[in-house]
Amino acid sequence: MKRVAIIGGGWAGLACAHGLTEACQQAREPTEIWLFEASPHAGGRARGIRWETSLGETSIDNGQHLLIGAYSQSWKLLQDAGVPLERAWSDSALHWASYTPDRPTGYELLRIPPQAWPWRFLGQSFPPLTDRRLAQPWSLLSRLSLANLLRHAIQSNWQATGTVFHWLSQLAMPERVRLQFWRPLIEGALNTDWRQASASVCLRVIKDSLTGPAGSTNCWHPRADLSQNAIEPLWRWLTTRQAKLISRCRIAALRPTTSASPGSGSGSGPGWSRWQLQVHPSSQDQALAFGLKDQTFDAVVLATPAYEADRLWRQSGLQETPAIVRARALDWRGVMTLYIHLNQAQAALLGPATQWLCSLPGLGDRTHVGLARSPSENGSQVVSMVASGLSPDDDRAVTADSLWRSAEHYLRPLGIDNLKALPYRFTDDPRATWACTAAFTDATGYALADLDDAPLTGVAGLYRAADDLTYGYPACIEAAVRSGQASARRVHQYLGLA
Ligand SMILES: Cc1cc2nc3c(=O)[nH]c(=O)nc-3n(C[C@H](O)[C@H](O)[C@H](O)COP(=O)(O)OP(=O)(O)OC[C@H]3O[C@@H](n4cnc5c(N)ncnc54)[C@H](O)[C@@H]3O)c2cc1C
Repeated sequence: MKRVAIIGGGWAGLACAHGLTEACQQAREPTEIWLFEASPHAGGRARGIRWETSLGETSIDNGQHLLIGAYSQSWKLLQDAGVPLERAWSDSALHWASYTPDRPTGYELLRIPPQAWPWRFLGQSFPPLTDRRLAQPWSLLSRLSLANLLRHAIQSNWQATGTVFHWLSQLAMPERVRLQFWRPLIEGALNTDWRQASASVCLRVIKDSLTGPAGSTNCWHPRADLSQNAIEPLWRWLTTRQAKLISRCRIAALRPTTSASPGSGSGSGPGWSRWQLQVHPSSQDQALAFGLKDQTFDAVVLATPAYEADRLWRQSGLQETPAIVRARALDWRGVMTLYIHLNQAQAALLGPATQWLCSLPGLGDRTHVGLARSPSENGSQVVSMVASGLSPDDDRAVTADSLWRSAEHYLRPLGIDNLKALPYRFTDDPRATWACTAAFTDATGYALADLDDAPLTGVAGLYRAADDLTYGYPACIEAAVRSGQASARRVHQYLGLA
C-alpha cells in the first residue's frame, strides 16, 4: 500500500488530497492519504470564523475574501465535493463604485454584466441601474478609458513587463480613473502597491475575468462563510473516502529514511524513497492517537506557505535546491480588515449598495475597499473595510484609524452613524499573501513556467503545493487550488500510478 503525507490543510492541501484521492480510486490502487493540519480547523488563510456579537451569532471570514466566476478550478473542486453552489453561494454581477470626490454623489458606479465577452463589455457601456442617491453611472470619459485599456491589452497580446503603475502611465486615462478605480482594484487583487505590482500578472487577471465565459466577472460570496460553504464539505468528502485528516498536528521536520535514485517525473536531484514525519512536541498526543509513530510515507507534499516550507526544509537538514531558494526569496504583504455588524434596520439602509465593491478614501494617497455581504437570516448584515498591500512597517494603529474613517465615509451618507457603538472587530494577517511584484515575476519568468513543473522541489518524493506556484496568478484561492491539483498529478505519476 502506497502512503502519501500532505502537510497543510489550506485550499492547496485539500485540493491536492482531493485530486490524489480521485486519481487513486480511478487507478484502483489503494493508497493511504494522510493530511496534517497544524491548527484546530482546516482552511488556512481562507476560512470562516463564527462571531458572537450583541446582535447574535454571525459568520465572517478571517479577512474579507472575494471570489470571482473565473475561478473555474475552485468551483469545479467544490462541485466535485458535492457542494450545491446555487444554494451555498450567491453570485452577482460585479459592481464597482469608485470614490470620486469631484462628482455630486461622491461615487461613480461601474457594473460589469455577466454576459460572455465581448457582450459583457458592450453591456457595460449602457448606463447601469444604480441608486442615484449614492452613485452615478460611469462617465463617458471613464468608459472610453476602459475601452482604450482593453484595446492596448489586446494589441500587446495581454503581455507586459514592469509595474502596473508604469503600464497604466502609458495609457491616456483621466487621473481620477487611475487613482480611484485601477489603483484600489489592482492593489486589492494583487495585494501589492501598484508602484511595485506586476503588470504581467495584472493583465492575466484582467484577461481571465473580462474575456472569460459568461459569469467570469461575477462576484461570489459564501452564504455563511468559507468554512461552512467550502472547507467543511471538502473535509467531509475526503473523510468518507478514507483519507486520514489530522488537525491540531504540526509537523516539525521530515526525516528521509531510505535513499533512492530520482523517481519518474520527480526532476533531477537527490531522492529518498521513504519519509518519516517528526511532529512538534505540542502535537505528540494527536500523532500517537492516529498511530503516526513509525509510519513511513512514499511521498510528501508541503502544502504550506513558502516561508513554512522553507522552515521545514531547514529543520529537516535538506540540501538547498533552486526551488527552495525561490520560495525563500518571496516577500509578504499584509491585509487588515474591519468588520462591522449592522442590525436589521441599518442593513436595510444599505439598499442596493449591499453587493458593491467600493473604493474609499484612506490615509494619504491610499484607498481602501469596502464590501457589504448578503444579509443573514435575521436581517442583520456585516460590512467590511479592507486595507491591502500592507508592508511589515505599516503602523497598524494608523491603518485601523483610517479604516474607521473609510467606514464612516461610506456609511454616514446612508444614515448609519455612531459606528463605534456597533459590534466590530479587526482581523490582521501580516503575511496574507506573497508580494506580487514585477521585480519578482519578471526576474523569475513567473508568467511563463509550466504549472505541472511547479510542485517539483528538486528532491524526489518531495513536492510543494501553494498559492505561489501557479504561474501567472497572484496569491489567491484559485492559485492554491490549481497548485494542489498539479501537485496531485505529479505525486500520482511519481508513485507510478499514472
Ligand atoms: C486577509 C486575506 C484576504 C485575502 N483575500 C483574498 C481574496 O479576496 N481572494 C482570493 O482568492 N484570495 C485571497 N486571499 C489569499 C488566499 O486566502 C490564499 O491565497 C489561499 O488561502 C492560500 O491557500 P494555501 O493552501 O496555499 O495556504 P494556506 O491557506 O496558508 O494553508 C496552509 C495550511 O498549512 C498549515 N500549516 C502550516 N505549517 C504547518 C505545519 N508545519 N504542519 C501542519 N500544518 C501546517 C496552516 O495552518 C494552513 O492551514 C486572502 C488572504 C488573506 C489572509
